[in-house]
Amino acid sequence: MTNRKTGLPMPLFFLSLPRNEANRDIYNITEICFMKIIVEPLKPRNGPAQCFRCQGFFHSSRYCTRNPKCVKCGKPHLTRDCKKTPDTDATCCHCQGNHPANYSGCPMNPLNKPPPPPKVNAWQERERKRRERLEAEKIQAHAASTTTATNSSIPQSAEPPTRPTETRTSPQLQAPPPQPPTAQPPQDSSLLGTLKELQDPQVVELLTTMKKIVAIAKQDKTQGEKTIELCHLLGIKI
Ligand SMILES: [Zn+2]
Ligand SMILES: [Zn+2]
Ligand SMILES: [Zn+2]
Repeated sequence: MTNRKTGLPMPLFFLSLPRNEANRDIYNITEICFMKIIVEPLKPRNGPAQCFRCQGFFHSSRYCTRNPKCVKCGKPHLTRDCKKTPDTDATCCHCQGNHPANYSGCPMNPLNKPPPPPKVNAWQERERKRRERLEAEKIQAHAASTTTATNSSIPQSAEPPTRPTETRTSPQLQAPPPQPPTAQPPQDSSLLGTLKELQDPQVVELLTTMKKIVAIAKQDKTQGEKTIELCHLLGIKI
């Protein structure tokens, strides 16, 4: 190979071989005729293509019709017509910095720009959001079921004085109504009224249904099976 500037031959040789297993052995050769050599693969050009004419990126000078810009001084002329002397600083036409326009460290070089944000697939995004919502609902349901469980455990101990027989016959159904006994001490008449209303058969029925829903939610089944059970419970036809 020859030097691009001086045209003189360099101690560098370009070999083109088909890519196969046998040719891979060339990298093991370290000397030829008692002369040490190093075999290296061709380094790929890094960075985007840059035009020699206008210094723009992502196209070649071959078909460029833009106004020329000098790679050295950034002024509007072809690089070969440049009058800049080596002792004056170069000026980049992209950032006005003191480097040639083809310097790979130029802040305006696409190599040094931050990568664009990753593309978002709308369908995957929607699915992800749906899953997150389901997760949140599950956690809420779990939290609700645990609070109900603790509530039911407290009244059971406080219940015997008021309605011992009912607790024994149907402990499951009586769990929410027993809340009144524990809450009664504050002697708030309006609160007392509300709590009495809680013992209304209609309210009890609703609370029972809620207990059943919690029970279904806590089962060790798939979401689909739980949904089917829930629909059965509420009398919804699927
Ligand atoms: Zn160009
Ligand atoms: Zn110039
Ligand atoms: Zn620059």
